[in-house]
Amino acid sequence: MILIVGNGMAGHRLAQGLRRRNPDLPVTVLGAEPRPAYNRVLLSAVLAGTTTPEALELPDPGVEVRLDARVVGIDTRARRVTLADDETLGYDELVLATGSRATLPPVEGLAGPDGVPAEGVVTFRTVADCERIAELARGGPMAVLGGGLLGVEAARGLAGLGVDVTVVHPVGHLMERQLDPGAGGVLARVLGGVGVGFRLATGATAWQPGRLILSDGSALEVAGLVVTAGVAAQTWLARSAGLRVERGIVVDDRMATSEPGVHAIGECAEHRGRCQGLVGPCWEQADVLADLLTGANPAARYTGSAMITRLKARDVDLAAMGSLDEGPDVEVVRVSDAARGRYGAVAVRDGRIAGAVLLGLPDATGPVIQLHDSGALAPADRFSLLLGRVTPAATDSPAQLPARAVVCRCNGVTKGELVAAWRCGSRDVAALAVGTRATTGCGSCAAVVEGLCHWLDETDPEPEMSPVEQEGAA
Ligand SMILES: Cc1cc2nc3c(=O)[nH]c(=O)nc-3n(C[C@H](O)[C@H](O)[C@H](O)COP(=O)(O)OP(=O)(O)OC[C@H]3O[C@@H](n4cnc5c(N)ncnc54)[C@H](O)[C@@H]3O)c2cc1C
Repeated sequence: MILIVGNGMAGHRLAQGLRRRNPDLPVTVLGAEPRPAYNRVLLSAVLAGTTTPEALELPDPGVEVRLDARVVGIDTRARRVTLADDETLGYDELVLATGSRATLPPVEGLAGPDGVPAEGVVTFRTVADCERIAELARGGPMAVLGGGLLGVEAARGLAGLGVDVTVVHPVGHLMERQLDPGAGGVLARVLGGVGVGFRLATGATAWQPGRLILSDGSALEVAGLVVTAGVAAQTWLARSAGLRVERGIVVDDRMATSEPGVHAIGECAEHRGRCQGLVGPCWEQADVLADLLTGANPAARYTGSAMITRLKARDVDLAAMGSLDEGPDVEVVRVSDAARGRYGAVAVRDGRIAGAVLLGLPDATGPVIQLHDSGALAPADRFSLLLGRVTPAATDSPAQLPARAVVCRCNGVTKGELVAAWRCGSRDVAALAVGTRATTGCGSCAAVVEGLCHWLDETDPEPEMSPVEQEGAA
């Protein structure tokens, strides 16, 4: 029996992958949250009121799933786990997919002695958090502490609901982990245009219910505070069971922990010194482990992932990938049109895209992501990339995309799955959206899905799937 602890995005993906590869394998998922697994990536749409929590629910993985089932102990010798209600369950293979928890910075008054957020303070990680934020926002203005991806998405969502919201960020520009100062400045300007206020290069020193005191001595009078100041891998369970834990649960390329029969995937795992913060790598880890645990591909290994961040905020089209770090062998091309909310930068090394930031340049985004993902040569005219003037021939056409290429990043839909759905009768973008959920997240993959439809329409009336495509669709 395979026991998966954590019914989040990685745990769900693994359960689904195990079921697909071997329908007879006994698998049980234990999830602490009271609701079925959902697409956490799209929580900002729930906060913004543009979708419901139910719409984010992931498909039934076809294995036993127990909700409200928190694991509180692991006996690795006896191969048993203990649940919060003292029930114990045995396992042959255990997979920890416990994700991350939002952390609270050391600001006076933010949390009680037990670490629980103080009155009026809420993090942004779960559906329950979204419900709490919405409840607080009904009481008046809100502050968001932390101007990273989550802080920006939370603020945009609240502003869209007509809430007076201010982002407090100790760094001089937004999303500094993904953006250079130029892009961060243009992003703040765009968000300012839709009503988000900013206190940049300013920290918070204390929270008193209804009042956030800032490092410059001023204060914000608010009904609530959303803290988006970082996450930490959820490791206490592994640590207390004696597993090797650094920043996350240490795993090798097979997602094996230091303890035989125990594996870890997703944000709780630390692979080659790195904990993941994006869903793509978590899913790749889940796929590798599904291959190994079922024996479908004993040679499967996880060796790392390309990192692409998309902001999912209404009227803001932003993608960031790789690194823009300058160096003797790196060529960086930038274009800035702050008045129109546009900024683009692309770093090219050895003729290939090493990093890019694209804000307000939707025509450029698809081709640049494709070039980055495939490692294909960038056109000699770098500006053409930023202006979205790269002809389809210069990037990978749908025909050349591998079946495993993820087309819809919000919902993790691959080209192979889209091709399979097409062949089952979903013959346009709307039908593919219903069948696969592609395009139903941030929507930025719509052009690629449409391109796939045209390509299939012309080239694929009723052909057989190639082995590669069958594998991607599986
Ligand atoms: C608002 C928001 C926006 C995001 N946007 C993006 C984005 O645009 N792109 C992107 O790539 N990523 C994004 N992410 C990150 C993405 O959601 C995570 O990378 C992904 O969810 C990680 O999956 P996971 O399964 O490792 O962790 P989680 O999805 O957090 O799941 C872990 C689960 O384990 C459960 N659990 C923990 N401990 C126990 C226990 N002891 N017993 C039982 N269950 C337990 C938790 O309750 C939780 O349900 C976003 C995250 C948030 C919060």
